[in-house]
Amino acid sequence: MTTSTQATPEAAADPAGAPARPAGLPGAILHWIGGAAAPSADGRVLDVADPVSNTPYATLAAGGAGDVERAVAAARAAFPAWAALGNRERATVLNRIADAVEAREEELAAFESFDTGLPITQARGQARRAAENFRYFADVVVALGEEAFRVGSQQLNYVVRTPVGVAGLITPWNTPFMLESWKLAPAIASGCTLVLKPAEWTPLSASLWPQILTEAGVPAGVVNIVHGLGPEAGQALVDHPDVPILSFTGSTATGRHIVRCSANRLKTVSMELGGKSPVVVFADADVEAALDSVVFGVFSLNGERCTAGSRVLVERPLYEEFTRRLAERAERVRVGLPGDPATEVGALVHPEHYRRVLDYVETGRTEARLVAGGGRPEHLPEGNYLRPTVFADVPRDARIFQEEIFGPVVAVAPFDDEHEAIDLANATEYGLAAYVWTSDLKRGHRVAHAVESGMVWINSHNVRDLRTPFGGVKASGLGREGGAHSIDFYTESKIVHVMLGEVHTPRFGADEQH
Ligand code: NAD
Repeated sequence: MTTSTQATPEAAADPAGAPARPAGLPGAILHWIGGAAAPSADGRVLDVADPVSNTPYATLAAGGAGDVERAVAAARAAFPAWAALGNRERATVLNRIADAVEAREEELAAFESFDTGLPITQARGQARRAAENFRYFADVVVALGEEAFRVGSQQLNYVVRTPVGVAGLITPWNTPFMLESWKLAPAIASGCTLVLKPAEWTPLSASLWPQILTEAGVPAGVVNIVHGLGPEAGQALVDHPDVPILSFTGSTATGRHIVRCSANRLKTVSMELGGKSPVVVFADADVEAALDSVVFGVFSLNGERCTAGSRVLVERPLYEEFTRRLAERAERVRVGLPGDPATEVGALVHPEHYRRVLDYVETGRTEARLVAGGGRPEHLPEGNYLRPTVFADVPRDARIFQEEIFGPVVAVAPFDDEHEAIDLANATEYGLAAYVWTSDLKRGHRVAHAVESGMVWINSHNVRDLRTPFGGVKASGLGREGGAHSIDFYTESKIVHVMLGEVHTPRFGADEQH
């Protein structure tokens, strides 16, 4: 079998303090084009490092326009046959992909944890969710019907759904494999072929796709992967005239740029962007449950989570107690080696991102009251580690209240009444998720409806059924994916109008007297 990687035969020896290297770690990660591993046409590579030792463990093919050109050509060539398959046949392939992902859960989790710094236990959960995405979209397309509209006995109108064509998928470095699966599964289930551009900081888990796809019998060219930098490989995909549809997950700044670039060709775009999601805790809430949820919501996945509840708004009577207890919990969160099953917060993905998060912590010290964390844990002198950090009394115009930090840092502020809670919740440019904690369900619904966000959870942390729409408003995104929304995105709906009775058309030009 051709694979896109050249694997080392066994796990490498660990220098003291360095993370355990997972077995089978590749020395070079290549593109996957037309069912074969390929280096970049110009031979360029980037170094990829792990976030604990910050030393390179592999080279990554650095794709450019020529590589994207070849990948799009392969996807175009594969499109007619893939699109022509019945939904059940495609679903069978998707289920085989899910089987292959499940069979590799340990390997996937080990790769992901090593490459991204995610705690291993959380990386396992992400691997399971990736498999679930394929099973779910297999079920969706098998059950898919097409609408028909009968107009009395005169006319029948029916919808024909066809795959859009070659999809361009661009993904970020947080939970990379799961987010790739979230786009791959509905795209190929719908009959599209595609080119995926994974994030350049965390390409390791994507190096397993070729084996998984080959094992599952995905025909060559249906899925193509071009690695490399955003402004090079990603931009070439955005600009390619034969890629009519782009699904992007990443930062708001990049999303805005891609929307601007797509305008000339009127590409269909889906934008899953940044967030600064509020958690509104009323004094009548189940405090224990709210506290668990706040701690988990902002510190799980290292805080590198688009839906993190990174602004906690607490009703005044509960404010001091809640803030104190949140700070105590934050101090007790176990920060450690990503591969250690006891670890709750691992290493941040990259030194550049780590510095950015540390800069926010320094800014926060000047803007608010630091009540937990604020720097590197003493027992971890190397690696991109940060103690879970809590700022209290954060004013609404503070940068740490307004800007997405994307790390284990939370801003806490008090409010006096429901009106102020909603006002504060809506006081940023973002609108991805929101969380409301109250035992007054009428108020819970009221606040949920008034908050400007694509998703709200009442008395719950972020638990999401795959059938529900996912996406944000304001600077958090454009469009929805998830459930039927994903299928709508990757297909065109054509309406066919059929006259069943007599047709009566106004007879222009039929009068022979003129
Ligand atoms: P990013 O925007 O820097 O990069 C995302 C992807 O876009 C990468 O693959 C990158 O190479 C590519 N890219 C960069 N410039 C490009 C260009 N000019 N043309 C085409 N592609 C380009 O984001 P990131 O730092 O990797 O990810 C973190 C961000 O993603 C955070 O803001 C987070 O909130 C967001 N995110 C959102 C969701 C969501 O569903 N809303 C989910 C996860 C992450």
